[in-house]
Amino acid sequence: METQPTSDDPLSLYFHVPFCESLCFYCGCTKEIRKRQDATTTERVQRLIHGLKKEIQIKAAKLQNPKVGHIHFGGGTPTFLTREEWSSITKAIHEHFTIDDDCEWALEVDPRSVTPEDLGFLRQLGFRRLSLGVQDFAEKVQKAVNRIQSFESVQTIVDTARDLGFTSINFDLIYGLPFQTLESMDQTLTQVITLNPDRIAFYRLAVIPQIFKWQKSFLQKDLPEGKDSLALQLKAIERFTTAGYQFIGLDHFAKPDDTLAHALRHKHLTRNFQGMTSGRDRLILGFGPSAISAWPNTYFQNPRTLDQWSSLYTINYGSVKSCTLSLDDVIRRQLISDIYCYGDVSLESLGQEYHFRYLEYFHADLLRLETLLRDGLAQYSAGQVTEQGLLGRLLRRVIASSFDAYLPPDIFKTGLPRDKASQVG
Ligand code: SF4
Repeated sequence: METQPTSDDPLSLYFHVPFCESLCFYCGCTKEIRKRQDATTTERVQRLIHGLKKEIQIKAAKLQNPKVGHIHFGGGTPTFLTREEWSSITKAIHEHFTIDDDCEWALEVDPRSVTPEDLGFLRQLGFRRLSLGVQDFAEKVQKAVNRIQSFESVQTIVDTARDLGFTSINFDLIYGLPFQTLESMDQTLTQVITLNPDRIAFYRLAVIPQIFKWQKSFLQKDLPEGKDSLALQLKAIERFTTAGYQFIGLDHFAKPDDTLAHALRHKHLTRNFQGMTSGRDRLILGFGPSAISAWPNTYFQNPRTLDQWSSLYTINYGSVKSCTLSLDDVIRRQLISDIYCYGDVSLESLGQEYHFRYLEYFHADLLRLETLLRDGLAQYSAGQVTEQGLLGRLLRRVIASSFDAYLPPDIFKTGLPRDKASQVG
């Protein structure tokens, strides 16, 4: 790390476990597909565990006060690991970091492979938040994306987790998948609401076959078109809000007593590369292949593959990719985060905080915003940009993009290209 932390903020640790047993065709994560019983797999998992322990030791030693308030295991499939492997990593975490008493231990689980016994073991280790990849319950959709998991299997995991004392259960759902219709989505939403998760992430499928080659198995004719996709999103908003969930940020729903809803009410909601968060993770340390650290105005990314990453810990630590934000980046990050989280931003307050004349500073950005103002999707008044109506609410990314200094200027004349447009909403 290039700088020592000066903040008293507790750290957030993110661990990336890059193994999965089979490939889901919508996947955009960094992973390698392996059979658990294979000899090569055993060697590669050992390499991961060894590298993680080394990375924990090296990073913790560089900190003056390594106090941890949030730990998240993602992937890939964290529950690919055996109990022995879990014990080994969590022991290293406890040895090298001071864990807050109310530290949130969270992990992503695959309902197809995790067992009630596994959950009991993870609970004993200290985990209390679970995130389940559900995506869609319709069989035809599940077959098309190569991820078959019954409603009953998810229900068993949810019921067991509650009995064991897990305090928060999150579902990840995706819309825009092949064969999704309003009727099938309605049925999935009914099943989701029956299971009563505390929090739901409702993501739009990013179709980028030029990057995610396995998405070439999707036929264009089977994917919901723009207006159908919008109808699926509207259906989810209607069903979830009627069921008592709050619509949060770009794409999350949470019960009013969930920490995300609390963060929205108390204005400490943030968005980072893991999605909407409750603001406890300003300082993030990433571990494992491809993991990102945020510190807080410099981002670091570990090498993407297990081979590249693990060589860092056998040769010499220190050559991760990094990007330090300029003051303009910091200002625009705050601005864009405000729009993503709350749907409005005060340019005037930003000008006061960072000592600039906001009308001059954002002159070009406000010109780019004009089309959206004319179309009634946003309003600009007294130095404040505010989304307007439901469509403005759904197009927060587009409103924020007017202030994104890294988008090419001609994008605002021609509209968003297809790969960017697929991520809007
Ligand atoms: S389990 Fe998750 S990470 Fe693994 S292939 Fe499926 S979507 Fe990707």
